[in-house]
Amino acid sequence: MQIVYCDVCKKKVENSFNGRTFFYYGEHSVCEPCKDNLESQVKSTIRAKEPFSYEWYNKYIDDSLAKAIQKGKS
Ligand SMILES: [Zn+2]
Repeated sequence: MQIVYCDVCKKKVENSFNGRTFFYYGEHSVCEPCKDNLESQVKSTIRAKEPFSYEWYNKYIDDSLAKAIQKGKS
């Protein structure tokens, strides 16, 4: 089993299993609690977004993730 560290909280992901206990966003690996945090943060913005596009969504997730990673570093 590969050892995966979450890029946001820097914790080791136990029983790492892609798509179940951690998720890839671009080159970043994110654990499930951090993914939930990220998604609940962006949810309200996504709901208000009209028209919705996946291109916009992916960029928005990228930006939010970059901010979360930055926050984790400080
Ligand atoms: Zn995490």
